[in-house]
Amino acid sequence: MTADWLHMGAELSRLEGAAADFVHVDVMDGHFCPQLTVGPSVVAGLRTSLRKDVHLMIEEPLDMITAFAEAGADVITFHVESTRHPHRVLQAIGALSGSSARPRPITRGVAINPGTSVTALEPLLDDADLVLILAVDPGWGGQAFAPGTARRLDAVRGMIQASGRKVLLAVDGGVTRQNAGAIAAMGVDVIVAGSAVFDGGDPVANLRHLQRAVAGAESR
Ligand code: ZN
Repeated sequence: MTADWLHMGAELSRLEGAAADFVHVDVMDGHFCPQLTVGPSVVAGLRTSLRKDVHLMIEEPLDMITAFAEAGADVITFHVESTRHPHRVLQAIGALSGSSARPRPITRGVAINPGTSVTALEPLLDDADLVLILAVDPGWGGQAFAPGTARRLDAVRGMIQASGRKVLLAVDGGVTRQNAGAIAAMGVDVIVAGSAVFDGGDPVANLRHLQRAVAGAESR
């Protein structure tokens, strides 16, 4: 959302060279959250060697996951609030891995908004590979990283440990060049950054700044 759409190819190829891990695509349908962004054809059109991390903020994601798998998504993350049947969606994403829709494995992600109890995630951990904790409400601009997020990350980390499974812990929203190190110190595996990379200055220099902040947090 925050990248320069008129120079997307050039921006992505520079970030490939700067060792970004993923390109994170925020898909919003104007119903689940206020904004309307992009669909599968834009995901398919992103020419990049970066893994495509698709964050679905849409109602009833079950109807759309095949299209995003065919568009080349390496990670598909949907919201626990967006469906009555989150377990079913995880199973359906798993069934697409290795299918003609997506020969490569797909990482199954489940996301959660700041206002939803993290206990909603516990029954899903047997079938998820990634949990994405939102630190802001998706679709409204200009929000700061919610202070309760550290506590929520701690609770989810405990649940993951209790599950005995390897599940990545990720955080999305409100990440800045100033707080990235502090967020990394909260013990997350994945940090999603938008405006911290693309708004102001050179995206590659911004990404390198974030990488140094994360590395500093990890070495402490
Ligand atoms: Zn996102």
